[in-house]
Amino acid sequence: MMTQSSIAIERVVNEQVEAAVFRALDGIQAERLMYKKGLVVLIKPNLLMAKPPEQAATTHPAVLKGVIQWVARFEPERIYVADSSNGIRPGNTRKAMKVSGIEAVCEALGAIAVPFEERPRHSYVVQSPLVLEEVISSTLLKEADVVINVPKIKTHGQCVLTCCIKNMFGTVILGNKSKLHARFPHIEAFSSALADIYSVARPQLTVIDGYVCQEGRGPSSGDVVKLDLIIAGYDPVALDTVVCKIVGLDPSRVIHIVKASHKGLGTMDLTKIHFTGQAIESVRRPFRIPFTPSVPFRVPRPLSEYVATVLFRATVSFDKKACVRCGTCWQNCPTGAITAPRDEVDTVPLWRRSACITCYCCAETCPHDAVKFRIPIVKNLAGSWVGLLLLGCGVAMAWIIVTLL
Ligand code: SF4
Ligand code: SF4
Repeated sequence: MMTQSSIAIERVVNEQVEAAVFRALDGIQAERLMYKKGLVVLIKPNLLMAKPPEQAATTHPAVLKGVIQWVARFEPERIYVADSSNGIRPGNTRKAMKVSGIEAVCEALGAIAVPFEERPRHSYVVQSPLVLEEVISSTLLKEADVVINVPKIKTHGQCVLTCCIKNMFGTVILGNKSKLHARFPHIEAFSSALADIYSVARPQLTVIDGYVCQEGRGPSSGDVVKLDLIIAGYDPVALDTVVCKIVGLDPSRVIHIVKASHKGLGTMDLTKIHFTGQAIESVRRPFRIPFTPSVPFRVPRPLSEYVATVLFRATVSFDKKACVRCGTCWQNCPTGAITAPRDEVDTVPLWRRSACITCYCCAETCPHDAVKFRIPIVKNLAGSWVGLLLLGCGVAMAWIIVTLL
């Protein structure tokens, strides 16, 4: 029996991506969502930034093509394909649509590619908020009869994984994303905000692009993984949990999945899921997971705060050969931790450790992969009160031992 908790996992065979999308959607009987002709359908891909499909930073156009073709079978009135890219420049999303191949697919199939920021704004009230009372986004979210989430599987420097729940962060318009990073610098609060944002958009259907993915330094500069999977379902928490299992990641490490589950957006208990297509074990392919500041919930709050904000604090540097001083990083840094290089003096931007909240926006938005992150745990420990305490204890122990001898 098909339920809201049905999930289909389908392999892409012989590069027939659209066929895999159709099999997955038919497998979960998604046609019941398209209950009449003339619906307005909004499709939300991942358009993080202007990168070509082979770099796997954005939803692959072949996956989007399959979704649009499937939707078109039900004779909707309009199909919108919308997102808002990273960065603050108004043209960023249009550029990402063009470079990613999304715009060309929309033109060919009669869908309307539109950045959220080009439509009027609307304030959406968050029900039972964890941290956010309202989300400002486009009116498209309320105009649509059906919202379809089409995220991509990528590891993520800050959130560990980006897929279903994290993809809806793109409904927050351009630079407002940076403001949210600044407002919620701690990963736990930021993850709560992601769950609140998801609850506003709350897509009725999700089709995951597991065709080409990113591991390691994702979500923009990771290594490409050809996973050849399409996963479809309704429950974002269950879908993200399934993705974690496939890529060899403990889902409880991805705090926004846990927060979304607590908020009642879905289940992490996969025994409640009805699967069709491939079994998780048969498609498992462990990813290289980035070193992130996520800490388990069960540790006391002050300790988790310490680990996240002090011990795992990143040091940002810039690759002198790759940096073209384009300004994207300092324009997008939510706290002003990066500033422009001084003329004639510096070859790369300047970074202030004290202002940095390790949000990874600079690395995500740099078009030349010139931003480098390092997490010097020993140095961070040595420079913190815990380090000083440990040093003090060590000195005291040594003094006692010497005195006793
Ligand atoms: S680090 Fe990247 S974003 Fe920053 S100025 Fe250099 S090239 Fe531009
Ligand atoms: S320097 Fe980079 S990681 Fe640090 S706050 Fe700015 S954008 Fe975020």
